Amino acid sequence: MERTLILLKPDCVQRRLAGRVIARFEEKGLNLIAMKMMRVTPELAKRHYAEHVAKGWYPSLEAFITAGPIVALIVEGPEAIRVVREMVGATNSRNAAQGTIRGDHGMSRQMNLVHASDGPEAAQREMQIFFHPEELCEFTPTLQPWLLAEDE
Ligand code: ADP
Ligand code: MG
Repeated sequence: MERTLILLKPDCVQRRLAGRVIARFEEKGLNLIAMKMMRVTPELAKRHYAEHVAKGWYPSLEAFITAGPIVALIVEGPEAIRVVREMVGATNSRNAAQGTIRGDHGMSRQMNLVHASDGPEAAQREMQIFFHPEELCEFTPTLQPWLLAEDE
């Protein structure tokens, strides 16, 4: 089982797409184990996007990600990190495949609706930035026997 961090960015919340985007992850069969609405501060943005802070476009990204509330989620499932990245689609929404979240709902490179961790180390680091351990609500869905075979 893997866990990954998902952020519904301010454009997603402002455009009232949060419910639809969360539903896609639920319908896929991922377990939703943590969720909260919050505001990203400039300090938090710099931690989360540490790899981008030195880039010329970082100030614009920080202005965007701090401009309104976000929804932070942790989902769980086998190969969840890769599966979620593929559901989200390419960074530039104009290049993202139809059927992906960005491909279906956006036209922007920056306002691309969703963040998803890009690997196991990023997932671990990012889950700790956005959630305290006690905010995770682990559970076994009663549907579990109909979602995965026992050896998966
Ligand atoms: P991803 O979110 O697909 O992992 P990156 O890690 O490359 O993409 O970039 C982080 C976020 O920064 C993107 O999701 C997007 O919102 C924004 N971004 C990426 N490239 C640019 C750019 N050239 N100009 C402005 N914002 C960008
Ligand atoms: Mg990235």
